[in-house]
Amino acid sequence: MPYDYDVAIIGAGAAGYSAAIYAGRSGASVVIFDKGMGGGLTSEADDIENYPGFKKIKGPELMEKMKEHASQYAEMHFLEEVKDINVKEDGVEVITAKKKYWVGAAILCTGTEHRKLGVKGEEEFRGRGVSYCATCDGPFFVGKKVAVIGGGNTAISEAIYLKDIGCDVTVIHRRDKLRAEKILEDEAKEKGVKFIWNSVVEEIYGNEMVEGIKIKNVKNGEIKEIGVDGIFVSIGEEPNNELAKKLGAKLDEHGYIVVDEMQRTSVKRIYAAGDITGGIRQIVTACGEGAKAALASLEVIGKRNPFE
Ligand code: NAP
Repeated sequence: MPYDYDVAIIGAGAAGYSAAIYAGRSGASVVIFDKGMGGGLTSEADDIENYPGFKKIKGPELMEKMKEHASQYAEMHFLEEVKDINVKEDGVEVITAKKKYWVGAAILCTGTEHRKLGVKGEEEFRGRGVSYCATCDGPFFVGKKVAVIGGGNTAISEAIYLKDIGCDVTVIHRRDKLRAEKILEDEAKEKGVKFIWNSVVEEIYGNEMVEGIKIKNVKNGEIKEIGVDGIFVSIGEEPNNELAKKLGAKLDEHGYIVVDEMQRTSVKRIYAAGDITGGIRQIVTACGEGAKAALASLEVIGKRNPFE
């Protein structure tokens, strides 16, 4: 049976768009599926200062540029979630809410989603003071007090963004050292972001909206209440690995897809790229992995890798 598309890419973030460019330019017909409008988590980022070629660019702007570029080489199916995927001897069935597609290879670029704190009030006040995206929701908190939870690059970038737009920002971190890059830490401190160390959130409380949080000092057990209007949870990501699990692809102990040096998963015809494969999870590495996955996928659709 002829393929509907040679290559299906699942997830329209940096890895997916790069895979589309490389597969398309190698002569494959390509479709990208995304359950939303694409852009991945990068489209939630404010200033990006480490993607070569752009000293500073906003996340949504960079992803718009990638989308525009990739759309020259692939059909884009936004708001079309892939529900299931089955590998056969001679191809792959990709089943979305709309249709079943028959393709030669699939590249999983499904990325990650925000990790939750799992404390009382988090679910209840989601959208009413609890947020996982400063650039999306920060403007509602201008002139107000907010807490950012976490000590990684995302937390500190978000704290800087929130401070820049005029919030009163306190970072609450469970250790006494940040995981974030030193340059971000210095910038946050210089701009007046406050820090509470060795502390974890125990509860988020309020009435209609968030009014405060209870935090516990992990060194001495002391519990404190802090009044805040908003809480930005920025404690890392969990892999979106449901499809990989359905396929029986090998995962590492944290749930990320295990790939070889050309992004092949343990399942024939299935490749993976970007944050879903774990590692250092940078935009530039996601792009490189997307390119490699696309070139490797040519091996199962009878096309030549032009770089070999
Ligand atoms: P991350 O690097 O995994 O950091 C997560 C932070 O949350 C850590 O500080 C961690 O504490 C803390 N944490 C985890 N679980 C927690 C819990 N249950 N309660 C309280 N705190 C908790 O995640 P990320 O900052 O989202 O970054 C994800 C990836 O994107 C990283 O590879 C990062 O480098 C990259 N990224 C890069 C940039 C950039 O290059 N400028 C910007 C954004 C993101 P511990 O430190 O104690 O583990």
